[in-house]
Amino acid sequence: MLLSKLCRKSSGAASCKLLVRSTSGVSKPKYDYDLVVLGGGSGGLACAKEAVECGARVLCFDYVKPTPVGTTWGIGGTCVNVGCIPKKLMHQACLLGEAVHEAVAYGWNVNAQNIKPDWRKLIKSVQNHIKSVNWVTRVDLRDKKVEYVNSMGRFVDAHTIDYRTKQGERRQLTAEHVVVAVGGRPRYPDIPGATEFGITSDDIFSYEREPGRTLVVGAGYVGLECACFLKGLGYEPTVMVRSIVLRGFDRQMAELLAAMMTERGIRFLDTTIPTAVERQRNGTLLVRHHNTTTQADGGDVFDTVLWAIGRKGLIDDLNLAAAGVATQNDKVVVDHTEATSVPHIYAVGDIVHGRPELTPVAILSGRLLARRLFAGSQQLMDYTDVATTVFTPLEYACVGMSEELAIESRGAENIEVFHGYYKPTEFFIPQKSVRHCYLKAVAEVDGDQKILGLHYMGPVAGEVIQGFAAALKSGLTVKTLLNTVGIHPTTAEEFTRLSITKRSGRDPTPASCCS
Ligand code: FAD
Repeated sequence: MLLSKLCRKSSGAASCKLLVRSTSGVSKPKYDYDLVVLGGGSGGLACAKEAVECGARVLCFDYVKPTPVGTTWGIGGTCVNVGCIPKKLMHQACLLGEAVHEAVAYGWNVNAQNIKPDWRKLIKSVQNHIKSVNWVTRVDLRDKKVEYVNSMGRFVDAHTIDYRTKQGERRQLTAEHVVVAVGGRPRYPDIPGATEFGITSDDIFSYEREPGRTLVVGAGYVGLECACFLKGLGYEPTVMVRSIVLRGFDRQMAELLAAMMTERGIRFLDTTIPTAVERQRNGTLLVRHHNTTTQADGGDVFDTVLWAIGRKGLIDDLNLAAAGVATQNDKVVVDHTEATSVPHIYAVGDIVHGRPELTPVAILSGRLLARRLFAGSQQLMDYTDVATTVFTPLEYACVGMSEELAIESRGAENIEVFHGYYKPTEFFIPQKSVRHCYLKAVAEVDGDQKILGLHYMGPVAGEVIQGFAAALKSGLTVKTLLNTVGIHPTTAEEFTRLSITKRSGRDPTPASCCS
């Protein structure tokens, strides 16, 4: 047997693959595939499709284990099926409900008193959309010639993957490179009744029964978003908070967001942990809990309990030890090139230890990895200054450093925080509360005052911060920001009007909208 290299021109760069020349003289690749991707979610699909564009032979596995209550879904991963997309649709449903009430103030003859959402109809519409995306994804894979296997892939050794066919036969295939993009799933607490009676974000978007009074356990962004859309749809959510809301986010903004939710009638059970869930005779759920501050035990009755206590990386079924891939907690450890402890095995997306768990992060890192592997690219993923949004009724979006992080890393004396409350024009006529419409820029104190972080709470926060994220990545300074002419009347223009620093102690509440 002789080894030689086959090089193919793709995307302007050469990609080479190892060929084995048999004694009969016919060359065949050493491995069945140039790339096998484990996980057909945001990161895996982006990587697989880009690799094919670069000329690689690619196979992608995707398999979804049903939740304890039997929910399952199609290809596309968390974002499409049980994450960003259904969440945003529920958020939109709430904004529309609010808009109907506001329309009355704007002169529309709507009988807003009697409007009521139809949960089942909404769920059906959301699921129909998801199914259409699943279908388009499958067609796209077929068109792009990415082989897709709806099965769970598992390492036999560092180049061999084992899986079960639809007919139940076990098969094996080999790959020169493997990308682990298996994502994560919600955690359940280790308390009686948790899996029997509780659901998670994996279930809520296809939950046929009206959720009713819902206990949302966990105050990360998933928990808060779920509580807000449930409230917006007319249910009574309670959020159980073990320690703080929105850990990892700017503290002032997180507390402002919690205050906004409280103003809208969402109840918080602070410093409380659940200890058991019991089904009562009438079908309701009794949640026993313990307050870690007062040490008091208590209990409350709910119709639905939704666990939002964090997510676990799906490494258990991968047999990573057989391939020699290092892990930390339940995540895969990678270097700056996305390589694991085994050089030809990579990981992208939520399964990676210490990286932001966001769809665009998974997509871009998967795509860039494919270009490096098969198109000679050198470009690495930049994980800094990734913008994100919490889709609560007043949205909160941010990019860059929190105020705490800026102070911790640079020292309080080197940081200037510009801030202000503002009044969105569209809020005036329906007399909506402007109490929590607030924004701030965290900047260096010296020179042109390079901006380190931007934080905005208000309407369409994600749309506002997306553009500023590009500016921040390009080295935005306070000087440039204040030299930028605003678009009036928008809420985004408030960033160009920031003139009050926290250090000055001046009142950041505006007197009018247009001065
Ligand atoms: P996933 O999309 O989870 O895909 C992994 C796939 O691999 C899954 O289909 C899984 O079943 C499959 N799999 C697992 N093990 C195997 C195996 N051994 N073999 C084959 N297949 C396997 N991000 C945002 O950017 N914006 C948002 O607004 C947002 N909202 C969210 C809301 C919710 C409720 C949740 C839960 C998440 C949200 N996210 C959001 C996060 C986002 O969904 C994830 O960051 C993203 O989906 C991660 O992509 P991934 O490719 O790493 O993993």
